[in-house]
Amino acid sequence: MKIICIGRNYSEHVKELGNDPNAEPVFFMKPDTALLPNRNHPVFYPDFTNNLHYEGELVFRVSRLGKFIEPQFAHLYIDSIGFGIDFTARDIQQTCAAKGLPWEIAKSFDFSAPVDGFRPLSDFPDLNNISFELKLNGVTVQTGNSRDMIFDIRRIIGHVSKYVTLKTGDLIFTGTPKGVGPVQKGDVLEGFLEGVPSIKVQIK
Ligand code: MG
Repeated sequence: MKIICIGRNYSEHVKELGNDPNAEPVFFMKPDTALLPNRNHPVFYPDFTNNLHYEGELVFRVSRLGKFIEPQFAHLYIDSIGFGIDFTARDIQQTCAAKGLPWEIAKSFDFSAPVDGFRPLSDFPDLNNISFELKLNGVTVQTGNSRDMIFDIRRIIGHVSKYVTLKTGDLIFTGTPKGVGPVQKGDVLEGFLEGVPSIKVQIK
């Protein structure tokens, strides 16, 4: 399986700035080794970064093989929604970006994509109105709603499947709202989907 992540998919100012209808979503991938082996496994703070950031995100699970999927049929290719944390070595990412290099290593390292709390699509009557929240040591640091995505899940699936065949079990991280920030060893992150506790991760 593969993990597909959408970059920069929320903007506070998108409405006032106007959305470019011709813009396309940016995506990158993480390997399956970015998942945690089980839900109690900690995320080890990598020794190659001094600025590990959380990014709380809605995650959609692919349920069918698909290529060139039309956006209006995209919901037929997903079966559940969970909460994921797209861990990012922000210092490495910024260094790579400044040099015009790919920032793969800032995103794809081991345990950089914990995900949990999957619930069936039928639990979410409106894909464009799903709320989520991330707490750091019990304090809310991010709140988001899928209605604020620049590219909704249908457009994401339509776009990605033009380039990459989607397979059963693939995961799509859909981008993070504002409020990203650093973690330290010992921190605990908790994600909530529509108020339901969905993931708990300890940094070690
Ligand atoms: Mg992200």
